[in-house]
Amino acid sequence: MTESTPSRRRFLIQAAVAATALPLLGRMAGQPASAAALPPLTADNAQAKALGYVADAKTTKNAAFKPGSQCANCQFFTAATGACAIFPGFAVAPKGWCSAWAKKA
Ligand code: SF4
Repeated sequence: MTESTPSRRRFLIQAAVAATALPLLGRMAGQPASAAALPPLTADNAQAKALGYVADAKTTKNAAFKPGSQCANCQFFTAATGACAIFPGFAVAPKGWCSAWAKKA
């Protein structure tokens, strides 16, 4: 009973590695992408141009701009990642703005 075969030993090592790695992988998969992982949206992006995106809301001359509105208080903005639902795959500036702005509930 105390004898340990190589295949049993290998199985126990693999089980120990899996028990350690799986919860870690699960946590990594559940984490949102960090702001650093998303490239910043630039004003030369075609959709950004169409929606009048600016990285600093104070600089817009768009007629739809409402004073005080900015990405940080927009319902499409995710503060933890800088992501915007209107511009998937990009990070927008918290002080930015575009004409799709909608007040966060
Ligand atoms: S939709 Fe909202 S969060 Fe996205 S760029 Fe426009 S103002 Fe910013």
